[in-house]
Amino acid sequence: MRILCVHAHFDDYEFAVAGTFERWRQKAGPDFRARFLVCTDGAGGHQFRPRAETARLRLKEQMDSAQIGGFELEVLRLPDGEVPREASLQTEPGLLAALWRAIREFEPDYLFCPPVPSEPLSGVHVDHLGVAEAVRKVAYLINVPHAFTPEYPADETRSRFCKTPVIINAFDGYQYGENSYDLAVDIDPVFAKLSQMYYCHRSQLQEWLPWVARHAIKAPESLDDWTRQLRERFLRRNQALGIQSNHPVEVFTVTAWGTIPTLEQLQTDFPELLAEACHFNLLEERLRRWHALG
Ligand SMILES: [Zn+2]
Repeated sequence: MRILCVHAHFDDYEFAVAGTFERWRQKAGPDFRARFLVCTDGAGGHQFRPRAETARLRLKEQMDSAQIGGFELEVLRLPDGEVPREASLQTEPGLLAALWRAIREFEPDYLFCPPVPSEPLSGVHVDHLGVAEAVRKVAYLINVPHAFTPEYPADETRSRFCKTPVIINAFDGYQYGENSYDLAVDIDPVFAKLSQMYYCHRSQLQEWLPWVARHAIKAPESLDDWTRQLRERFLRRNQALGIQSNHPVEVFTVTAWGTIPTLEQLQTDFPELLAEACHFNLLEERLRRWHALG
């Protein structure tokens, strides 16, 4: 079992999937692999550190978190070797080619990424939207072996079949509650570890995010202080999503961008789902319709 999170920034792994990935790792066997593919250079988001310093620091913070969380970290490189610039991510052939190559190389069973908003009133972060749109657009091409051989030359007479993953959208905070979801995972059993992973991103939690004043984060004084704030954030989100639980929960939406799963497959593969918060009936109906058309 391989699961891949494709997201925009250093720290989006923690904001979107880290609790579920950790529970998945604990449940899975020894051949389990989890990877975070980050698609921008991390240089842009700071108010007093120069860009190059910010980029170096944020990579280091993410590497520290990966060490705690036991997941692999990869930074996306475009065909010309450059890492895409933060605050500028757009779907263009180079980005699609780079994603195609990185996804084919890891060949995940499940790919997690941000959603494409369906509600025009919802907010976006340009890089989150860029990743969401690019993953959606590249999804069909994952098993098209010659799609990007101009960028990545290969023997075009002998192609390897590459499995297309099930593609799942994670919750995106920039949409301010305009997120629907299908599946909910109780991450309380791994919450302490999740908080520790988040807390590696000190240049964000203590410096940038309080300053930019869009995320209701007060610079945490300690790991304990952050753990308390983080739990409150999750509980506020539960309330906004109508989830009747006093445990922190991560939520996900199943797309038809990649391979279409069955509900049974999702229930078998995912870590234990919080059944009372999942929208199984709606999801099953949607999956059945997609399968019928497939
Ligand atoms: Zn982000």
